[in-house]
Amino acid sequence: MGRDQAHLGEFDLISRYFSRLGCARSDVLLGVGDDAALLRMPANAELAAAVDTIVAGRHFPHDSDARSIGHRALAVNLSDLAAMGATPAWATLALTVPNADPDWLERFSGGLADLANSYDVALVGGDTTAGPLTISVQLMGHVASGTALRRSGAHAGDLLTVTGTLGDAGAGLALATGSHTSNDRAAASVLRQRFEYPIPRVEFGAAARGTATAAMDLSDGLVGDLPKLACASGLAAHVDVECLPLSDALQALASPQQARDWALGAGDDYELLLAVPPGGYAKLTSLAAQLGLRLTAIGELRRGTGVSWALNGAKFTPPAQGYDHFRGPSTQITV
Ligand code: ADP
Ligand code: MG
Repeated sequence: MGRDQAHLGEFDLISRYFSRLGCARSDVLLGVGDDAALLRMPANAELAAAVDTIVAGRHFPHDSDARSIGHRALAVNLSDLAAMGATPAWATLALTVPNADPDWLERFSGGLADLANSYDVALVGGDTTAGPLTISVQLMGHVASGTALRRSGAHAGDLLTVTGTLGDAGAGLALATGSHTSNDRAAASVLRQRFEYPIPRVEFGAAARGTATAAMDLSDGLVGDLPKLACASGLAAHVDVECLPLSDALQALASPQQARDWALGAGDDYELLLAVPPGGYAKLTSLAAQLGLRLTAIGELRRGTGVSWALNGAKFTPPAQGYDHFRGPSTQITV
């Protein structure tokens, strides 16, 4: 039990931890405290809105550090806006907590605030209830009219590219839950960090507008997510599995097959998957490099439907499916 938990009511809690969280923005005409927030949109822009819920025991282990939970609750939404090429601005938070523990709330709101400040996001409202630990963040932002990156914009012949490296968060989660162990403490710490504090590719998503033809973020794993982009674009996709970018930490800590399985099937990497015409690939790579980000071509889009996979030229069947909450788990946390 925390310091003064007995005296912390719903409204004390809101005003202490959430009423001034994140950046002060001049386009917030009215923030936390009224029945709704009032926000001013820039001219000639479209509103981009995304919401994601994370549930204890399902999206993160019950014993996760509250600072990481606060970070991830916003990061998953920042990643969605990044995938649209949108600029994040305003967030609301629906927080369900089993009790009002000041120590937990301090760390949770701190993790949320640090990430909000780094992306100029203001928390403008929310809802607070008691119950099993569940956090929904709604994030709103803007994008110049007609320029957002959609899943549906790819053309046959476009290259499929991904930012960063894949599979790290899957390994990090397995390390956090104890289902994978390693004596390589440096590599384990890098991978756990990738699960607990994912870095959304917000600047790169915005920079890719006008060069990439389609984009989505990888939250459920490549095997689960790629068919969504291919289907939205009315195309087939092909992936050369040996091209998947793997980090040094992942390769140090896992067998080649285990590393590949995590890169293909585990979620939570929050890297971007983008389609780009072959003629735009060099430009997209240089935009990524300017942000210190690796960009790797892993395959292409073709006429037809479905996704085909090859490993060193031979047909390959990926072992894992992406996560579907209603179809049963492959990467579900078991805690
Ligand atoms: P209402 O009942 O009108 O929906 P509440 O009494 O639930 O409003 O909340 C009071 C104010 O505090 C509102 O402005 C609401 O947006 C804000 N709020 C409630 N919970 C949170 C939270 N977890 N984070 C940020 N703002 C919150
Ligand atoms: Mg009201």
